[in-house]
Parts: sequence; structure tokens; C-alpha cells
Amino acid sequence: MKFIDSHCHFDFDAFQPDRAQIWQRCINSGVTRLIIPGVCRAQWHPLTALTGSQSGWYGAAGIHPWWVAKESNPDGSLIQPEALGWALSDYLNSNHCVAVGECGLDAAIETPIEIQEAVFRVQLEVASEFELPLILHVHRTHNEVLKLLKQFRLPRGGVIHAFSGSEQMAMDYWKMGFYLGIGGTITYARAAKTRRTVSQLPIESLVLESDAPDMPISGRQGLRNSPENLPLIAAELAKLRGVSLQDIADKTQNNTEILFSL
Ligand SMILES: [Zn+2]
Repeated sequence: MKFIDSHCHFDFDAFQPDRAQIWQRCINSGVTRLIIPGVCRAQWHPLTALTGSQSGWYGAAGIHPWWVAKESNPDGSLIQPEALGWALSDYLNSNHCVAVGECGLDAAIETPIEIQEAVFRVQLEVASEFELPLILHVHRTHNEVLKLLKQFRLPRGGVIHAFSGSEQMAMDYWKMGFYLGIGGTITYARAAKTRRTVSQLPIESLVLESDAPDMPISGRQGLRNSPENLPLIAAELAKLRGVSLQDIADKTQNNTEILFSL
């Protein structure tokens, strides 16, 4: 049985001490491929160097909403969104990436939403121009993001990472070519709405993700999350949908291959 982790920050320092050992345990548990999102300009090159060092690791490039306020000029002023867009285009012209992202809007952080949106818009333009899928971070901003996605021509769609929400919202995204990233949230009994939603959605719309080192599964709160836990999320999804683990593994792997053209 094979799995692809569609969203794992495996380049983060949290994995520095034992990345090779974790990867070996991933392989042993069937997790044989990882998609590693971009988060800020300074991280793109090191990420590409990392993904180039191991087959089965794929990188993306983008500016995560949490990093938007850190993209500054030497004098401390924020870099113009257009300049970030040029930097991203330049990068994609000379480096292989499977997606644009992680990008999006987050209503729970201090960075004003207008500033986040300006940086998000240039990334939507770049994704459209390069015909790449998007990895989206959407936190309490579904209406705003859906509105923007309708404005842009996004030939490859993308994925709503760490999806939680209603079936209607999921279907709105799916109709626009966006997959739903299913992660550790579904292992928590209190996430009743999301658990119900993922049991109803078309299997063709779902991909699995750990979001490691964040989003630990139920029972492991406060601990570093790891992509080797992905089969536990898959097992929960199989249980919720009343199907076999093999079925979930096969179908989500196929979906992820289509989404990122692996
Ligand atoms: Zn992420």
C-alpha cells in the first residue's frame, strides 16, 4: 500500500536532527512521496536543493500568509506585491516546482487582510500564467477566497489544504477544480462536522496530508507531527467512509498524481 503526503513541511528545522530516519520510517509505512510547500522567498532555493537530493520529494514555491509581513526590503519596508510576483516568476522559470503555494488568506493573524490579498493575487496570476496548481491556506476566509478564485482563470485548480467546513463549501471548491486536503483534523471526535463532510464528498476530490510538523493527530497533541502518521489519517478516512484502507490509499494516491502531474 502506497501513500502520498500532499502537504508536509519536511524542510523545516523541526526535522533537521532526524530527517533521514523519519524518511526511512515513512518508506516502511508506505509513505513514499511528499509534496513540500514553499513559504517565503528565502526558503525556495534551500527547498529545491532538498527536494533534488531525494527522489519522491517534490517542492512548490509561494509566499504563505504568515510570512507576508516578513518579506521586507533592507530598509524594513514591505516589498511591493508586484516585485514578489516577479521574483516568483523568475524562480519558476529556472527551477522545477509542482505547484504555486502555499498561499492564501488567514483572518486569524495580525497582517491586514488587504496586504495578504495583494500578495495572494500576484500568486494567483503566476499560477495561471505558468499553468501550475495552487496549494491554498484558507483560514476563516472561505468567502473571500472563493470570490477571488472565480475572478482568476486557473487552468490547473489546486488544493484547499487542511480542509474543514461544510459539504456545500467543499463542493464549491471542487466544481472550480480544487481538491480537498484531508489531514489529522478528522481523527478528533470533536471535529464532527468535518468528519461528516469527508464521509460524503466524492472520493475523486480528496487528497491526504499530514501538514507535519503541525497538526498532530488525536492523542498526540503537543508532539511534533510526522508524515509517517499519514496511514493513520487514511485509516480514519476509510472508517468514516466504510471502505477499505487499500481503496483509500489507491484513490487518494491517484488523485494526488493527477493534481500535481507526478
Ligand atoms: Zn502548510
